[in-house]
Amino acid sequence: MNSHSAKPQFDVAGNLTAVRSEIARAERRAGRDAGSVTLVAVSKFHGPDRVRQALNAGQRVFGENRVQEAEGKWPALRADHPDIVLHLIGPLQTNKVKHAVATFDVIESVDREKLARALAREFGETGKSLALFIQINTGEEPQKAGIAPADADAFIRLCRDDLALDVQGLMCIPPVDEEPSLHFALLAKIAKRNGLAKLSMGMSADFETAIALGATHVRVGTAIFGNRPAPEI
Ligand SMILES: *Cc1c(COP(=O)(O)O)cnc(C)c1O
Repeated sequence: MNSHSAKPQFDVAGNLTAVRSEIARAERRAGRDAGSVTLVAVSKFHGPDRVRQALNAGQRVFGENRVQEAEGKWPALRADHPDIVLHLIGPLQTNKVKHAVATFDVIESVDREKLARALAREFGETGKSLALFIQINTGEEPQKAGIAPADADAFIRLCRDDLALDVQGLMCIPPVDEEPSLHFALLAKIAKRNGLAKLSMGMSADFETAIALGATHVRVGTAIFGNRPAPEI
């Protein structure tokens, strides 16, 4: 131990550089334009220290999966960086819709009619309208949130046409024990036939595969911020 050195810092900036260059490589390999994939840095459970390291390294798009945690964490960070774009990537209860709409810029986890209607109502009352992704349960896992693939077209129509929601794309979280590429391909197919341009798919372990299959947004946590929950160092 060197008593003169500062406390060792977890290298968020170095990790970000590595992830960004892997994204760039995957874009090239897939014949896609440089910069066509947005990195959503998933900072859930991590304290403001590591998030500030990412901000200092130029990262501006972040993902959180709990409304309450994000409400506590982000107002101070936003005060210093007004250009932050915050995505909700976890389940949203209808009684938290007001808080979610006030806290986030994008909601990726629209997964049922009751929630879609509550969002439409909140947008009507506040005059705000967030960009939305619809979460598809591509693995049809009973414990997992999301619209079943067979119900996707009708649900997208309901959100877009009946409720006038700003549906920009689809999101999925493949089953942990299955080949993710099948799920990414299914998500891309559903988006294409519904004219949706954005695909949020791919996490730390499989974002390169997701990019090859058309991801426009990859949600990367561990590869940037380390294991959750972060030990405070
Ligand atoms: C936590 C989380 C991620 C990030 O996962 P990592 O494996 O840490 O990259 C991505 N998407 C969702 C929906 C999550 O909840």
